[in-house]
Amino acid sequence: MNSESAESHCVPAPAPAPPADGGQLIPLKTILEIRAAVRVLNVYITTVPIQKASSTLGLVRTLVPRDGGYDFQHLRRFAKPGVVPEGVRRRYFEGCGEDGPESLRSSVDENEGLKEEGCEEETKIFLLIAATSIISPSSLLPSLESILGPGVKLSTTEIPLLAPTSAEQAKGWSEKYWPCVYKKSIPFGPHVAIVSRAQEEVLRGVRGWMDSAWGLADAAREEGVGEGVGVVIVERRGGEARVVVGAGDGRWCRWGREEGGEGNVTAHAVMRGIGMVSEGLARDYTSPSAIPPFPDTEGGIFRNHPLLDLENDLPEKEVDVGGYLCHDLEIYCTHEPCVMCSMAIVHSRFGRAVFEKRMCGTGGLCADEGGLGHGLWWRKELNWTMLGWRWVRPLGFREGRVDVVDVELDA
Ligand SMILES: [Zn+2]
Repeated sequence: MNSESAESHCVPAPAPAPPADGGQLIPLKTILEIRAAVRVLNVYITTVPIQKASSTLGLVRTLVPRDGGYDFQHLRRFAKPGVVPEGVRRRYFEGCGEDGPESLRSSVDENEGLKEEGCEEETKIFLLIAATSIISPSSLLPSLESILGPGVKLSTTEIPLLAPTSAEQAKGWSEKYWPCVYKKSIPFGPHVAIVSRAQEEVLRGVRGWMDSAWGLADAAREEGVGEGVGVVIVERRGGEARVVVGAGDGRWCRWGREEGGEGNVTAHAVMRGIGMVSEGLARDYTSPSAIPPFPDTEGGIFRNHPLLDLENDLPEKEVDVGGYLCHDLEIYCTHEPCVMCSMAIVHSRFGRAVFEKRMCGTGGLCADEGGLGHGLWWRKELNWTMLGWRWVRPLGFREGRVDVVDVELDA
């Protein structure tokens, strides 16, 4: 938070120093961002004299209204040859046109347009015309020649279909495909300004909450009630963030480990944490948001009551009964939650989710390749999205203690 906004809201901002161990929050990528990285579209390009650029584009817009449904807002419609990737320029001169291959023209000035041989001092720029799937060259060429004269050359090239999600990505794509523009209004993920503001807040407390989550994980394993997985749930109100629930994994509590299987799935740390929040909400029956408590009886399967001393000790306040279940709460998980728990986090309407250890074989939050790719933290088609990060700390943080959880475990 900057000083200006802190003053204007008169919030008593907690200001512990940023973590001294240099830990980092890595924003999770959405499934759309991951897909955007690989999806390309074939388009026609040509060169036009600068003086005829706008009339040519006008003609294209008549021939292909609304670009045939494709969105080119993230691409330069006109590009000086100096900013068009060299490979694209070369293919244009080598292999295109009705006249067949020509020798590579090298008269490209990085800053100026293209001065073609035989065209005197006429300066040309590249034009992105349309998707090749929308119109054929035989429909396109006669119309273009009506403005540009005979011998119009067409080439095809690939462009990124969706907008870049960062300035770095835009730069990389501009060098590889076609000049791109990065606009901060990402259509397929949370706004970068929202992410970075939230990240500053999360960074102030993440290390402590993660340490607590690992404490719960260790206790759950040592006490034999579950696997070494833990979560801490934080409520942030008026600039103050406080722990409302801590939960360790409880899948082996009153559950026969010797019989094999995966244990009690309703007692994963995330499920227990959510259950404890709902127990807290259920305490105030006068509240309109109060919900009936889940049964946590000797014979039942839920483990929503504290099993570990730390689960009694950690909470700094009661759950705010004004909220809807976990609405806008934050969850800090030692391990990337499994698909079931990730969906439970979405359905419970958490505002932020942070995990430390990536679970490539079972985790439901990440969209990246190398894992299941569900990216459940931010899916447009679901009725709730949140902010998500992975917390990465320098090696050796846990003072030599080893994470004993199997990478294939459903956390
Ligand atoms: Zn789980």
